[in-house]
Amino acid sequence: MSQTEQIALALGSNLGDSLTILPQALTHLVEKYGLHLLTHSHWYRTPPLGPPQPDFINGCALLAMTHSPTDLLQILLATEADFGRIRKGKWQPRTLDLDIIFYGNERIHTPQLTIPHPEYHRRAFVLLPLAEIAPDWCDPQTGVTVKALAQQVDGSGIMMVGAI
Ligand code: ATP
Ligand code: CA
Ligand code: CA
Repeated sequence: MSQTEQIALALGSNLGDSLTILPQALTHLVEKYGLHLLTHSHWYRTPPLGPPQPDFINGCALLAMTHSPTDLLQILLATEADFGRIRKGKWQPRTLDLDIIFYGNERIHTPQLTIPHPEYHRRAFVLLPLAEIAPDWCDPQTGVTVKALAQQVDGSGIMMVGAI
């Protein structure tokens, strides 16, 4: 059995009932794949990148699990498919997008997987929710904390959805 790792995931959806899909996806990861949900952020409404399409709902979650990075990616891709995602290419609307932001303190660069996620440090819709739940997590490549990165991005246009 491999050791337990903490991971940070970014979740997004802009097709279907996104505010239902995102928490359901987390439950799915717990019930179907045995991941342990530690916490998740509030959900945020985000204007889309690229061509015109519905706003996104985004958020982040911290989980603990023993899966390898490759197995985790397969689990996430299978979960996206379970929630009806059809891959039509980049920038297309999707019912569910699950990205690995951090996998413990690891740095991974393979054709299938880049960890930390190559764009997360530029994305307010990742950094704002991530800073809620993991402000002190240091980027394993740069040593910069999530909180510091979140303070540097432009978060205008991103709105927290009805605080619970
Ligand atoms: P972006 O990665 O810029 O947010 P995207 O999420 O729209 O774009 P997808 O079409 O969902 O991109 O993913 C394409 C591929 O990206 C996946 O099949 C996977 O192999 C690869 N990938 C590389 N690094 C990661 C990562 N850290 N998390 C998830 N997928 C990754
Ligand atoms: Ca993505
Ligand atoms: Ca993705």
